[in-house]
Amino acid sequence: MAENRVLIIGGGSGGIIAANLLAEEGKKVTLVTDSPVHFFQPANLFIAFRGEPPEKYSRSVNSLLHQNVELILEKVTKLDLENRFAITEKNRKLDYDVVVVAAGASLDYDSLPGMRESLNRFGDYYSTPQSAVRLWETIRGLKKGKFVIGVPDLIIKCPPAPHKGTFLSASFFKKEKRDVSVELLYPSPHAYTEAELARTIEKKMEEFGNISVRTSFLIDSIDVERKVVVGMNGEEVAYDALAVIPFHKGPKIEINPADARDEDGFIKVDKNKLSISSYDDAYAIGDCTNAPTSKTGVAAHLGAFTVWRRIRGENAVYTGRTNCPMITDNEAIFVISDYENKPVGQRFSKLKRLMEDLFVSMYFPSLMHPRKFEPIFNAYFEATEPSVLGERGW
Ligand SMILES: Cc1cc2nc3c(=O)[nH]c(=O)nc-3n(C[C@H](O)[C@H](O)[C@H](O)COP(=O)(O)OP(=O)(O)OC[C@H]3O[C@@H](n4cnc5c(N)ncnc54)[C@H](O)[C@@H]3O)c2cc1C
Repeated sequence: MAENRVLIIGGGSGGIIAANLLAEEGKKVTLVTDSPVHFFQPANLFIAFRGEPPEKYSRSVNSLLHQNVELILEKVTKLDLENRFAITEKNRKLDYDVVVVAAGASLDYDSLPGMRESLNRFGDYYSTPQSAVRLWETIRGLKKGKFVIGVPDLIIKCPPAPHKGTFLSASFFKKEKRDVSVELLYPSPHAYTEAELARTIEKKMEEFGNISVRTSFLIDSIDVERKVVVGMNGEEVAYDALAVIPFHKGPKIEINPADARDEDGFIKVDKNKLSISSYDDAYAIGDCTNAPTSKTGVAAHLGAFTVWRRIRGENAVYTGRTNCPMITDNEAIFVISDYENKPVGQRFSKLKRLMEDLFVSMYFPSLMHPRKFEPIFNAYFEATEPSVLGERGW
């Protein structure tokens, strides 16, 4: 069959699920990725704000793959969509019949003055588990003063992650009875981009007592010597410790044709079919695409299923569905949306938090056996439909 050789670029959530689905199907799958280890990125929060060990959330990519997947541990430098091949940093040429790009987003710490110095000094919870360990050392060492979380841009993985960091750090300082306040610097006029959900969040932040949020704050620079974040209007916010969310860009792969990427390097896809530009033998899923939905593991997961079905010949479409739990220490809400529906306001609940914990424990098995876990995920998606959640929902 002409479509037998499938090349998958990137061994994160989306790439591993797509590889396993297609290998089970009998396709000849090669997965090329630049890291031997897959790390569960949401766990950066548990490392940075609870001091959990990174090893708990890391697995070798090889151990997560179906035995028939060929794994190549190299960085892809070029993808030629016209001539159906990719080139790696070691100059290996990989021909394909179908390619699935799942290379995630790349993080940019250099477009804002002071951002990299701040990363080096305090750590963060976006770049690496090691940097999250560094942030935990910062948090643990902060006995009084102010911890600031700065959000310069809204195109980021898991849009509620800045709020999760705010709640989790504030919980830590409260439990430890430390005189430390947490301030979130957010670019929107409300504490979240959607006003209805923002009200839910603002109420919860008020209840905490040690959280403040400065809205419509556009970060211009960070003055690391004076320890202030400078806003575009000249306003200054002093901090004792700081975590800044980096800018997100597309993956660092040269693509032919160049116009298959947008100005930030994200790969242009048909938002429903996930095919790249006009190619019917090339797909992109997850964080590396310009699909107008949140950059989440759920989007990568559902994208992998959509592409698997399309390669099988089914007319599957991705609806933009995403789900990112926003957790406090012991409660959660689900920030859900799709192309048609915005996230809804709802009640924080302990049951939602429990559900989130269950999904964390199912994460690695669900990458290895995506079809076995599909009914569980479908039940989860049904239980978190916008019409089921909402202020009067569960
Ligand atoms: C703090 C935080 C909290 C989060 N919380 C949630 C949450 O609660 N729920 C949720 O759904 N999502 C959450 N996310 C987002 C989620 O982790 C990502 O959206 C998801 O990992 C995206 O999967 P992906 O497969 O597209 O990319 P990734 O998982 O990033 O994988 C990309 C892979 O491609 C590899 N790669 C990159 N470039 C190349 C190259 N040139 N050649 C070869 N390989 C390459 C990388 O090494 C990586 O292994 C969170 C993220 C963060 C940082």
